[in-house]
Amino acid sequence: MIAEVIVDIAHSEIDRVFDYIALSDTQRGQRVLVPFGNRQIEGYVLNLKETSSYDKSKLKSIVRPLDNLPALTDESLQLIKFMVKNNHIKTVDAIRLFIPSDMRKGKVKELLVNKLEVNLTESKEEILKKFRKNAVKQFELLNFIENNKEYYQSELSNKFGSSTVNKFIELNILIKKQEQKLRTPTSEVKEDKINKLTKEQQEVVNQVLEPNIYLLFGVTGSGKTEVYMHSIKNALNKGKTAIMLVPEISLTPQVLSVFKARFGEDVAILHSGLSAGERFDEWQRIRQGDAKIVVGARSAIFAPIQNVGIIIIDEEHDGSYKSESNPRFETHDIAIFRAKFNNCSLILGSATPSVESYYKAKTGEYKLLELPKRVNNQEMPKIQVVDMRSEISSGNTGIFSRQLLNDISECIKHKNQTMLFVNRRGFSSFVICRECGYNAKCEDCDASLVYHKEDKELKCHFCGRRYRALTNCPNCGSSYLRMGAIGTQRVVEELRNEFPDVKILRMDFDTTQNKNAHSKILQEFQNTKPCILVGTQMIAKGHDFPNVTLVGIVDADMSLHFADYRSVERTYQLVTQVAGRAGRADKIGKVVLQTYCPNHYVYRFAANYDYKAFFDREINLRQTTEFPPFATIIRILISSEIEDYAKDIASNINLDITNLKQKYISDFIFCKAMKSPVAKIQKKYRLQLVIRIKQKNSNEIINEIFNIVNKYQKPRASVFAEINPSSMS
Ligand code: ADP
Ligand code: ZN
Ligand code: ZN
Repeated sequence: MIAEVIVDIAHSEIDRVFDYIALSDTQRGQRVLVPFGNRQIEGYVLNLKETSSYDKSKLKSIVRPLDNLPALTDESLQLIKFMVKNNHIKTVDAIRLFIPSDMRKGKVKELLVNKLEVNLTESKEEILKKFRKNAVKQFELLNFIENNKEYYQSELSNKFGSSTVNKFIELNILIKKQEQKLRTPTSEVKEDKINKLTKEQQEVVNQVLEPNIYLLFGVTGSGKTEVYMHSIKNALNKGKTAIMLVPEISLTPQVLSVFKARFGEDVAILHSGLSAGERFDEWQRIRQGDAKIVVGARSAIFAPIQNVGIIIIDEEHDGSYKSESNPRFETHDIAIFRAKFNNCSLILGSATPSVESYYKAKTGEYKLLELPKRVNNQEMPKIQVVDMRSEISSGNTGIFSRQLLNDISECIKHKNQTMLFVNRRGFSSFVICRECGYNAKCEDCDASLVYHKEDKELKCHFCGRRYRALTNCPNCGSSYLRMGAIGTQRVVEELRNEFPDVKILRMDFDTTQNKNAHSKILQEFQNTKPCILVGTQMIAKGHDFPNVTLVGIVDADMSLHFADYRSVERTYQLVTQVAGRAGRADKIGKVVLQTYCPNHYVYRFAANYDYKAFFDREINLRQTTEFPPFATIIRILISSEIEDYAKDIASNINLDITNLKQKYISDFIFCKAMKSPVAKIQKKYRLQLVIRIKQKNSNEIINEIFNIVNKYQKPRASVFAEINPSSMS
């Protein structure tokens, strides 16, 4: 047999298959070692065939297989083909999504431990006679072991000394064995209480038995998680498996403990916070069919689980489901592929569906299911919009309105908990001179520096370069520098002044760098009353704390002014998600939303929890201004360390695109070449072409654009295209 093998090297020139002579046990999808040039490298068998069009005497043979089970399942192989075609990525890049990165090149393997099995063929008395009288350790060991039991070699050696143990091995009383030890990610396991479903929940669970794509629009606290778990149980009962995706690692500890409690060993976990060994072992458990449920972040959609009975994407609107770096993909597309392949249902769940998903539900592409009420019929917390401009005009220049301070005091008095949300998506920690407007920027990148108070330094968030903090403006000498308009640190500091005796916790990027830091902070919050938790986006989602009665949004406008057509949508989602943290159990909750634009429609709809009205307004706007889902935005980004080279490529591409535009003149809405908003990152100059086309014929045009982009794949420059990018920086 001949095997078509793709080698694991990411260069566009070698993104094609090579023919090798297969071994007798070579299988499709297998990871193999092959000779390549004058070395041996890893490759994947994409196909097996009878004959090769090359001269067989010149073909080399596969050296050996690298796994027992093929690393790529048939489904994976088909999905790879689909992604190469639809996402315009290289086969090797697609394959890499399916394999734990440390498994490639054999950087991580099974963890084998030495065990010893007791094999007593005579009575202990008989054996004792063979030892010298003063062989105390040997007597002890003999007394300790029991026939046919197994012990860790390390345990026995520690207790009785390795020479004693070796002696027993020599005598064949202990027999060496190797056993695989699973490295299992730790997670606290909560006590499980299986809730009897409400009528509404049961209705949803019944509906999703019919394979389809469902958008589950359920308000926060409507019991979506319980619906997911019952649907998964239904799949398991039919002998099938399940994939459950959650947005971010910070969210997984809680979801994980709930899932572990209910499904135990059947659950495998895949997310970026695992050690290489843990990921490898979890992946193997899935591949071997030992784990039936995969719970994880975006990348878990590539898990090698077979016979899938249900796929769930929780918080489907979340930005983390879009991969923005190479290889780029949309998790929804992959999930839809897998649901169709397995003929099973896909549930997209959210309290604030993305405008595009809700549009698809309204136009029949998805089936809409709703849970409009909280399980316990608890009212949604009241959202009070506070006008910060009037705070300033009445002399309060602090970051907290009088209303918010009042409500925090009340909350503390009743020994309840407060969550304060600080929006960091925007440009909140820039250094700005209040006299001349000077703004400190990175010398290598065109990006504003961010002030880090703890280290007293400025950092570039694009390249990581650090600068000493400024005391005076380098431009005009003024000392009125504003550093860090509102960051979590500053909020915590001001809170400490106001409430010196109350426990204040902080959860943001900086405080969650250590493994398990997330769950430690959340655990402490859970156990402390009263307590204030200050945090970024990380605290906005999923958490279910019964004693949180107050949620404050310190500056809601931050994401509103972001240069992205989805910024209003994002703001709506954020406000609703954050508000959903309040009053989840039997206590009434309240939300204080601080803004400088209190009349913006997004706050009016959000305060009334009127998603449908918000959607109608937003979709109208998108239609009249021709933005997605009524149009597609394509950005081609060109970057190179050599500025003129980047400019050359950009103008050549621009010519090609202009020609394309002639062909599809009525489909082009917008087309412009420009400097990228961040014109330089890590010493690379960045130029971009932004194109907006109508939805009709868009697939055809996108294909042509990708063909143009592929023409300009050259060394020393990077050229790639993105569809509806969420960041234009
Ligand atoms: P969502 O994910 O929609 O925000 P959750 O699934 O977190 O909502 O449910 C909110 C709370 O309601 C949780 O504490 C959950 O245990 C509880 N719950 C869910 N379903 C039921 C039910 N049928 N009966 C009683 N309590 C329920
Ligand atoms: Zn100045
Ligand atoms: Zn920089």
